[in-house]
Amino acid sequence: MRADLHSHSSASDGTRAPADVIARAAAAGLAAIALTDHDTVAGIAEAAAALPSRLALIAGMELSCRRDGHSVHLLGYLFDPEHPELAAQTRAIRASRVERARAMVAKLAQLGTGVTWEQVTTIAGDGVIGRPHIARAMIAAGVVGSVDEAFTPEWIGPGGRAHVRRYALDPANAIALLHAAGGVAVLAHPLAVTRGWIVPEGLIAELAAAGLDGVEVAHPDHDLAQRTLLSAVARGLDLIETGGSDDHGQLTGDRIGCEATGADDLDKLLERASGAPVIRG
Ligand SMILES: [Zn+2]
Ligand SMILES: [Zn+2]
Repeated sequence: MRADLHSHSSASDGTRAPADVIARAAAAGLAAIALTDHDTVAGIAEAAAALPSRLALIAGMELSCRRDGHSVHLLGYLFDPEHPELAAQTRAIRASRVERARAMVAKLAQLGTGVTWEQVTTIAGDGVIGRPHIARAMIAAGVVGSVDEAFTPEWIGPGGRAHVRRYALDPANAIALLHAAGGVAVLAHPLAVTRGWIVPEGLIAELAAAGLDGVEVAHPDHDLAQRTLLSAVARGLDLIETGGSDDHGQLTGDRIGCEATGADDLDKLLERASGAPVIRG
């Protein structure tokens, strides 16, 4: 049985609707899929309604955190989505994403790119607005040739000419918050430099001491050497090892199910969660 514990839909910055994510997860032969949109659970209801009988849905979210000026992503699973503090914090992050996106588009306009706010919101639709939407508007305007090119210091990458920071949680606080809501917390793609920052081993140890449940070892941006290293770190810190595709639909070439979490690790993770049940079709 295969479980992909990391995916995005159009509820955040993926290109596929939640029901489509589910259809693709089923077609990939997965036994379980976690929908982990950025800072929102808005896609979960649609995903649950589309669930076929042989597929389980693990409600999740990828929480935006920051430490020492660096972006850190935390995957939360099976928390109570109505937990007041968690809901308030994710609302604040989403509001800040919109403000930040507006400020970035204003900078891009000043740089003479011709990218407009209207283009970006049209691309984002009902999704939580994110930099990939801005990157797509930049591609449409002929400013850059690819999303990767947009995410550089030249443009909207960290420290970039049109980059603006937004509100984020400290990862240790985010772990405590997820636990308070009955959820479990997994550090996402810690060694994926293309997604931000290589999380130092010392911080992984600190977060483990703060109650971190697991670490995402199998991720498309981790090479074999990184997986071997992370796996050793996880064993040393007694962390559950997970795997996920981090699929964003066409943005990542539709790769649901390309990475998976082992059955034992999945069981351990699910055992610790008490905020929400696994949704079965
Ligand atoms: Zn991430
Ligand atoms: Zn992700």
